[in-house]
Amino acid sequence: MSASHEERPHIVIVGAGVAGCHAARNLAADHDVTVVDRNGIAAEATGLSAGIIAPTLFYSDAPAVARYANAFFREFDGSHGFSFTKRDRIDVMTEAEEAEAQDLASRLSDQGFPVAYHGSSAIEERYPQFDLEAFAGAVVYEDTGWVDPYTYATALQAEARERGATFTLDADVTDLLVDNGDVVGVETESGSIEADAVVVAAGWRTNGLLPEGVAVPIRPYRTQVLVLEPEEPLSPKFPLGRVGCEHLYFRPEHNGDLLIGGGHYPIDDPGAFTTDVDESFQLEIASFVPGFVDGFDDAGFVNGWAGIDAASPDTRPIIDAPRDAPAGLIVATGFNGLGIMGSPVIGPTVRERLTGESPPFPSDLFAADRFNGVSESFEYVSTSDV
Ligand SMILES: Cc1cc2nc3c(=O)[nH]c(=O)nc-3n(C[C@H](O)[C@H](O)[C@H](O)COP(=O)(O)OP(=O)(O)OC[C@H]3O[C@@H](n4cnc5c(N)ncnc54)[C@H](O)[C@@H]3O)c2cc1C
Repeated sequence: MSASHEERPHIVIVGAGVAGCHAARNLAADHDVTVVDRNGIAAEATGLSAGIIAPTLFYSDAPAVARYANAFFREFDGSHGFSFTKRDRIDVMTEAEEAEAQDLASRLSDQGFPVAYHGSSAIEERYPQFDLEAFAGAVVYEDTGWVDPYTYATALQAEARERGATFTLDADVTDLLVDNGDVVGVETESGSIEADAVVVAAGWRTNGLLPEGVAVPIRPYRTQVLVLEPEEPLSPKFPLGRVGCEHLYFRPEHNGDLLIGGGHYPIDDPGAFTTDVDESFQLEIASFVPGFVDGFDDAGFVNGWAGIDAASPDTRPIIDAPRDAPAGLIVATGFNGLGIMGSPVIGPTVRERLTGESPPFPSDLFAADRFNGVSESFEYVSTSDV
């Protein structure tokens, strides 16, 4: 990094989604930080998210990451109106999936995570609203929950501001400024901003801002959510969960409604899509849910929406300097539908890339060079399938 201000380098962060806000929060204490967004805080994928938090499952191969993320949400609880709602999670398994699920549960349990596999009748006893006749059982996670993603992002923003970060929330970044192999700032529609380093956290648009010949392997994909009002509000113990074979996940709302997510598919032309839910996704939910959960035969449709996130080849984000990038350029993108629950790693990993300070988890999981040689038209893998 070419620090023109020896003591407090100026970092411009492009994007005020969860990635940009988390990076800003962690950098602001000892850097001058300016976050620039074209649309506002959490205006894209972040604000559209279901906010499910299940790092133990999605980082089951990296327990240090799971522990760090789990602890972060609990420690951050109470900051600027942010709260973490703790709730069990059930990942429902077919007979074909059962043996692998049992292995996963016992491995996680051996590592000290509150995870266990139970057969269908034990699950129905514990969570009586479910009808699991078609399933063998479920992995139960007792360290999961959800957050309101908008409040979470604004709480990160508030902490970043308290530490001195500035947010410019109506500026479209049109280009990176590069001089002699160093990033020296960004160009916006209303002028340029100088910087010693730039973090591009612009979601699926990230590659569009990188210099010619520099890119990370990400693909935009669309993902959808519906909220249904059951005949009676769901009980306060109703768990969150996932039905992997149906590519669906769910969680209760605070008012007893049910949020159901799924309908993911890669897209090549994000500009052609609205935030409206596909009719095919609505029909899929209408045919599946009443047989899976009691009380939805006459459910009401509350609302639904779709958003676009960036997928990477292995479902993990890329938080690093891309190959052949000018010095001082870092990207934080490719969160694959897990960017809220995975966000605690963003700030520490960006700090490591900029300052060399080691995070308390293996950040090579987020390195750009793990994809050297991987084609940019890689096959999309949904996180429902991992
Ligand atoms: C429907 C849905 C449900 C989801 N559910 C979950 C869930 O339950 N749990 C979970 O962990 N994750 C979930 N996710 C995924 C999560 O929301 C994303 O992984 C995460 O929000 C990505 O954050 P981000 O900051 O990378 O991107 P974004 O939130 O998209 O932020 C990128 C920002 O960059 C800005 N930007 C882009 N280009 C420019 C430019 N040229 N100039 C200035 N600003 C620019 C945009 O305006 C935007 O604000 C869900 C996502 C969706 C869509």
